[in-house]
Amino acid sequence: MTAPRFIEVALPLPLFQTFTYTVGDGPVPSAGSRVLVPVRNRRAIGIVLGPTDGAGVARPRTIIEALDPEPVLSAEMMALCHWMSEYYVVPLGLVMRGVLPVLLTVERAPTPSAKTIRVATVARELPSLQERDSIFKRAPRQRALYEVLEQMGGRGAVPHLTGQLGFGAELVRALESRGLVTIETSVVARDPFQTRARIAATPHEPSAAQRAAIDALVAGKGGDVFLLHGVTGSGKTLVYIELLREIVMKRGQSAIVLVPEIALTPQTVDRFRAVFGDQVAVLHSALGDGERYDAYLALRRGEKRIAVGARSAIFAPLANLGAIIVDEEHEGSYKNGETPRYHAREVAMVRARAEGAVVVLGSATPSLESWENAAQGKYTLLSLPERVGAARLPSVEVVDLRHAQRPVSGEQQVDPSRVPFRFVFSEPLEAALGERLQRGEQSILLLNRRGYASFLQCEACGTVRSCPNCSITLTYHRSPERLICHYCLHEEMPETVCRKCGGTTIRQRGLGTQQVERLIAERYPYARIARMDVDTTSGKWAHAEILDRVGRGEVEILLGTQMIAKGLDFPNVTLVGVIDADIGINLPDFRASERSFQLLSQVAGRAGRGPKGGEVIIQTRIPTHHAVQCAVTHDYLAFVRQESPARRDPLYPPAIRIANVIFSGTSEKATADLALDAADWLRKLLSSQGIAEVTLVGPAPCPVDRIKKRWRWHLLLKSQRASALSRVGRYFLERFAVPSSHALRVAFDRDPVSLL
Ligand code: ADP
Ligand code: ZN
Repeated sequence: MTAPRFIEVALPLPLFQTFTYTVGDGPVPSAGSRVLVPVRNRRAIGIVLGPTDGAGVARPRTIIEALDPEPVLSAEMMALCHWMSEYYVVPLGLVMRGVLPVLLTVERAPTPSAKTIRVATVARELPSLQERDSIFKRAPRQRALYEVLEQMGGRGAVPHLTGQLGFGAELVRALESRGLVTIETSVVARDPFQTRARIAATPHEPSAAQRAAIDALVAGKGGDVFLLHGVTGSGKTLVYIELLREIVMKRGQSAIVLVPEIALTPQTVDRFRAVFGDQVAVLHSALGDGERYDAYLALRRGEKRIAVGARSAIFAPLANLGAIIVDEEHEGSYKNGETPRYHAREVAMVRARAEGAVVVLGSATPSLESWENAAQGKYTLLSLPERVGAARLPSVEVVDLRHAQRPVSGEQQVDPSRVPFRFVFSEPLEAALGERLQRGEQSILLLNRRGYASFLQCEACGTVRSCPNCSITLTYHRSPERLICHYCLHEEMPETVCRKCGGTTIRQRGLGTQQVERLIAERYPYARIARMDVDTTSGKWAHAEILDRVGRGEVEILLGTQMIAKGLDFPNVTLVGVIDADIGINLPDFRASERSFQLLSQVAGRAGRGPKGGEVIIQTRIPTHHAVQCAVTHDYLAFVRQESPARRDPLYPPAIRIANVIFSGTSEKATADLALDAADWLRKLLSSQGIAEVTLVGPAPCPVDRIKKRWRWHLLLKSQRASALSRVGRYFLERFAVPSSHALRVAFDRDPVSLL
């Protein structure tokens, strides 16, 4: 008497429903394990939610196979998925796919294999410009390739150079035969972080302030949240390490350490590995499926008890969790940009409460949300107000570019597309940079814009070349020369004649890192420069490669975008220069000021970490802006005092909770109509149901109103109550009918980090 047995399954489909299957003859798979099931005429992998009575299912189908002897999601993780599904208004199966990315897309556990790759390394440096010019006189493409390699930190994978960057294989061979570059075949390490040279365990004695913070954390109870507000260089990492020593070594529990981006924080990761060695699993985005699965198993079996990683490491399958550390908690990268659009910091809070772990949110510039929670007593505030050891916060000088424009003799003769060095570097910054080069100290220069020039403009009619797919201008890149869209990656060759008016003078406008690099290379031909931005770091280990060179003192000037602002700890860096602090400060986004303040504070914090002290020079045209002012004085509290009122009128987080509802489609009119219809629908819902606690703002076109050929509109839902937004969002997404034309879509973005 084998009555059919039923199970309820969550599938990664965009539907707010679960599915019922029978299990056939096999044993009933347990909740949290994977099953392969038929869905219409396809197969899909789902997660078993549990047994069910099968009532009301007309013709249930039978599963094809149970894939796991044991659950892949613990009961706690299942509960977390349910919470995410409800809070972020995402179907459960899609949440689970986000939590188990590898396991829900492949049927068999992937097997890792060692791969080999050909790597090109600069074998001969060419510090003299004359020599360089003569060597490459008749070989400009070789020069371009050689210089790209230099920019990548002196090393680059050959497939990357010939593939993404489009250099011919014959160019690589030519450089090799000329002895400028060596090529070797290297094994792609299964986990390069395991093989990286490890720094010695730092046996620092905690300072009094660190001690107080450590004691408070160790005494914390499960579910407690601590906001560790420590100025840059105050030694937050040591506090984390001492907490983990207690949790992992003494109590035998496990822990998760979240960092904004693994590639940008190799030093932080090294410090954990130095102390905890093999206990640490480093989860980073460059891992292949097989490696990711290995790490997953090691954590699940308890072979490793500390997971270090970016955003998605919050789902590490650890049991007996004692602590979750969120380093640089203010970073926007903790928010996932696609479904499920979760914020790892919020998920951390919920997971910790359910599993009895303490949470530490660390930052020199906490998000206003976290600061507000601490002010209301929901979090315990711990402060490290000073730098450790003898280090002092660097002095910061502002150069007002409106008055610092340096006189240029014979200005008319200046080629407008060749900006002179002195237009970009004020006298104080030039002097400071020269001094560092003379003294053999290192400098960091920030310009948060990559490429060579921001855009190209016809001098006659003013037309700017913009992307055919997005409402954004194309950025001009050199080496290789191209116009590139930073949203959709569209590329084209720049034209020498204006399409609109036939004008032949096309000007470069706005400055990017490639151009600044050229300016400093010309001004200081003997300085060794490394540039760090998206274009130089697309290779797998490019970040670490560049940073290692800086650490070994092989680079005098590190130039880059916001990538260079985080976590770096180089005692010989005594100067930080910000070339243009105003980039991004006026974006139409309620967090623009906050983000600028954080970036300036963070990058300033890279200076003066050693006994030689440090200096910061910020170039700006808006020296009185509070984001600049408060970064100059290292005064986080003053920033909060000035920024908070701006978030109350109009109401924005942390004064209220918001959800951004984004409408997109391939037709401009259909997208606008959809947004207008949805707003009507929602307004009627709010008034007919008497939901006064939710207000609707909009709809309006998004600030960037077209991306990848899709038009974009949005509206905002605001409420003081988190649950009200979830309820309205769910009701709307389930019942509002989106026409199936023009590829129309609706996205619901809870607690958005950006409204662009
Ligand atoms: P933060 O993350 O707060 O900016 P770090 O954790 O990077 O600061 O620490 C800054 C530097 O101070 C590191 O080089 C670290 O090794 C050192 N350090 C940390 N704690 C101490 C201490 N108690 N005594 C001396 N040096 C310390
Ligand atoms: Zn584009």
